[in-house]
Amino acid sequence: MDNPKIYKNLVRGEWVAAQNGEVFENRNPATGEVVGIFPRSDAQDITSAVEAAAKAYDQWRLVPAPRRAEILFRAVQMLGERKESLAEDMTLEMGKILLESRGDVQEAIDMGYFMAGEGRRLHGETTPAELPNKFAMSVRMPVGVCGFITPWNFPMAIPSWKIFPALVCGNTVVIKPAEDAPLSCHHFIQILAEAGLPPGVINLVTGFGEEAGAALVAHPGVRLISFTGSTAVGRQVAEACATHLKRCHLELGGKNVIIVLEDADLDLALEGALWGAFGTTGQRCTAASRLVVHKKVYDEFLDRLVEQAQALRIGNGLDPTVQMGPLINRDQFQKVQQYVQIGLQEDARLACGGHPLEDAEHTGGFFHEATVFAGVDSKMRIAQEEIFGPVVSVIRCDDLESAIEIGNSVAYGLSASIYTRDIHRAFVAMREMNTGIFYVNAPTIGAEIHLPFGGTKATGNGSREAGTAALDTYSEWKAIYIDYSGRLQRAQIDL
Ligand code: NAD
Repeated sequence: MDNPKIYKNLVRGEWVAAQNGEVFENRNPATGEVVGIFPRSDAQDITSAVEAAAKAYDQWRLVPAPRRAEILFRAVQMLGERKESLAEDMTLEMGKILLESRGDVQEAIDMGYFMAGEGRRLHGETTPAELPNKFAMSVRMPVGVCGFITPWNFPMAIPSWKIFPALVCGNTVVIKPAEDAPLSCHHFIQILAEAGLPPGVINLVTGFGEEAGAALVAHPGVRLISFTGSTAVGRQVAEACATHLKRCHLELGGKNVIIVLEDADLDLALEGALWGAFGTTGQRCTAASRLVVHKKVYDEFLDRLVEQAQALRIGNGLDPTVQMGPLINRDQFQKVQQYVQIGLQEDARLACGGHPLEDAEHTGGFFHEATVFAGVDSKMRIAQEEIFGPVVSVIRCDDLESAIEIGNSVAYGLSASIYTRDIHRAFVAMREMNTGIFYVNAPTIGAEIHLPFGGTKATGNGSREAGTAALDTYSEWKAIYIDYSGRLQRAQIDL
């Protein structure tokens, strides 16, 4: 692009440059071309945005939730009308194939409809009081100004998972999207503003993590931080939130597993494994990076997996025949190559792939072959650490029990799946896998927005995104007692 467009922050309903005048480039990982120029904001911009959000909160929290939801409905309709161009821009900025970018926008649409519906629910409880002539109930109250920090791999869906429930609950928002893919978040925020959100209710500040992101976490005016990203940064965010006793919601890394038992429909399991491992070029927090396969079907499964992985068409995600796009940036590209070396040093067998693609068709992009390691021991680093790329480890198991043990032997606990025709073993695995998401006869990816999303162990801190569970993140419970007895009634004492 010769004259890349210059984008701005949204603060107090106005599109403004960073106060320091700095900018950064958003580049297409398939071609290296500049997609747009964005403000490289710092603590000053964060302060302005938080002040705007705090001011808007005074009014927004008093707007009836069904009215708040009407604005969400309008935004969702606009997302639907513009879906194709939003998806194209998403593929341009982060590389995933158009089919998946459409899915990303659709996820925002689904979340919008679901949360707009909550505008007429937001249920609390009414419950008997223990004393006569007394009424008891609980209601949801907004939390205040929410600060959101998001990654690049679902650049519209993840902001929508946070923003829609936060807004319907009556909070105001400052969001700092990932520096590798700010355009999709920009589009999303622009649509929310066009749909009629009052100035200051939603504020967008782009920039780098250590500058704008850390400032947002540290700002005392922000009551809640919701962070999706790596476990290492998530830990820093949690520590900073603890200082101010902020509510802290974390969605972090994964090392997800597909278990394939000997009675599985192998065609189905292979299709799922390929999609789970190489969808979004393996750059999903729920990507299947470990395939634990029963010894009786291991050889056949491996041979067929390798054949299919080698046949994947890798290239620019805008080409409808392409099945796997590039990695997001040079760091990620190098990290994948480093892990291939680590796997080789650990004596895993490189069954296919293992190399960057640097021929004429792939010049300028961060393309890497779909890579399968066989004969992997579950203690190896490639089987323990999140690679976030198109690299999958195939591990042999003896039976369901050993598969579960291997599956649970990692620091993370996001998603797991099992392929089997045996309902008994499927239910045992469902109970025993220590993950927040579990699938039977489907890969580890494919969450639907009306169920809770999140994980155990190093994947987070116990909170959940999506579904009605998200409402618990973005609202405070208030318990209310109304005593109409006309006398002092002492709970637990006047029995
Ligand atoms: P990252 O942690 O590097 O960055 C995520 C966000 O945090 C970005 O916006 C970045 O600018 C910001 N950031 C970086 N340093 C910061 C700091 N010191 N203070 C505040 N903010 C800071 O992660 P990434 O590379 O963008 O995303 C990949 C990671 O995200 C993977 O680990 C993946 O598993 C995880 N992820 C998790 C989920 C989930 O729901 N569990 C979903 C998607 C991605």
